[in-house]
Amino acid sequence: MKIFISADMEGISGVVSMEQIEPGARDYERARRMMTREVNAVVDAALECGASEIVVNDSHDNMDNILIEELNRRAVLISGSPKPLSMMQGIDESFDAAFFVGYHARAGTACAVIDHTYAFRVLSAKINGKPMSEAGLNGRLAGWFGVPVAFISGDQNAVACAKEELNNPVGVEVKSAVGRNAAVIYPFDVVKERLRAGVAEAVKNLKSFKPTVEKGPVELEVSFSISGMADMALLIPGTSRKDGRTVVHTARDYMDAFKVFRVMLALSSGIR
Ligand SMILES: [Zn+2]
Repeated sequence: MKIFISADMEGISGVVSMEQIEPGARDYERARRMMTREVNAVVDAALECGASEIVVNDSHDNMDNILIEELNRRAVLISGSPKPLSMMQGIDESFDAAFFVGYHARAGTACAVIDHTYAFRVLSAKINGKPMSEAGLNGRLAGWFGVPVAFISGDQNAVACAKEELNNPVGVEVKSAVGRNAAVIYPFDVVKERLRAGVAEAVKNLKSFKPTVEKGPVELEVSFSISGMADMALLIPGTSRKDGRTVVHTARDYMDAFKVFRVMLALSSGIR
């Protein structure tokens, strides 16, 4: 049984503030240790439940947060950036399931720790008219390879987004958000037990999870915080403007839509 893990930081159990998630910030070194131990808890549980191969893709910021020296030696880590498939680098059809660890709610969600969608400048990202969190976007890429998302952890709204946008993965609420930068958090022993139970449930029912597949051409709609970012996204052939800050692109399939989204992010960075 081969498991792909994409791990972000905003949805890690002890994490609530920007002072923790930005490399170099006051509490970042502690946050990356918390991220590493939470990924380890999921890896350990998956191995206990019979997983034979685990690939972990570090998916936060510079994507070199997880401490390899502390990671379970039976997992393989993909570290650093940029990566062609970003938060999903390493996924292919050989995996039995994808797990999302430390994920967060989509941009604009109330009562969600550091809600955003790939970048703070993205106000919304829609696929065929439906607003997507990173779980929805990344889960569809797993779906393109025929791989289901079976597990997600984060705050209550990260879990809610994934359940709404994907085919009902097991959701583990590792903290309860009370605002964008505040949450009820729990001692790690408690979190670890929740994660272990969630992973066990996901693995036990692994055959029942269905990949989320977008068939045929896919419409990507992205709304940015600044109109100049939309100007840059319009440089991509086949992209049109919906309003001042919103662009639309119809791609031939989901893989191309995902790549176009990545190009839009690259083009729009640095615009003020
Ligand atoms: Zn992140």
